[in-house]
Amino acid sequence: MGNLFVISGSSGVGKGTVIKEFLNRHPEFKLSVSCTTRAPREGEVDGVNYFFLTKDEFKQRIENGDFLEWAEFSGNMYGTGKNYVQKTLNYGHNLILEIDTKGALNVKSIMPESKLIFILPPSMEELESRLRGRKTESEEAIQKRLESTKLEIENSKKFDYKVINDNLEQAVNDLEKILLGVH
Ligand code: 5GP
Repeated sequence: MGNLFVISGSSGVGKGTVIKEFLNRHPEFKLSVSCTTRAPREGEVDGVNYFFLTKDEFKQRIENGDFLEWAEFSGNMYGTGKNYVQKTLNYGHNLILEIDTKGALNVKSIMPESKLIFILPPSMEELESRLRGRKTESEEAIQKRLESTKLEIENSKKFDYKVINDNLEQAVNDLEKILLGVH
């Protein structure tokens, strides 16, 4: 069986970049592709970044029991496919889920052997400026994301590990130590 790692972090913390860099170094780790009802951002590809579903399609999958966990977040729904996770681990691959803290805690309750990792920004000011720098969302959406950050940080107290993304190289090194250290 492979190991299951769940990585969370506030939006704008750069967790996607840290994970991408880690995967460049360790292509033997797999990254789970979630389903979402939110619209694709510029450059995002269906089946690569997410499986983009309509609300009706998403609700159907909930009814079918297809999700290991799912959550509504900033008015959109996000879910992790149960089959994909089970098959990947059974094949012996290590798998990373990049999901929010609520979903992470749900996964931990279903699969207690999973390891939860939280990626922190160097400060709240830095997080806000990174979020604004992205220029892909409305002010309202940015405010929603900042509010949810407080809850995320509260939930992260129950996580197994924390990594601060101040310097990318250092954050990737820290993540590497955690992910390669678990057997
Ligand atoms: P974004 O819209 O920025 O891609 O993602 C918003 C939030 O949804 C992030 O915190 C991301 O980690 C989380 N997320 C993405 N996929 C899933 C999922 O399958 N389940 C849960 N619970 N959260 C997810």
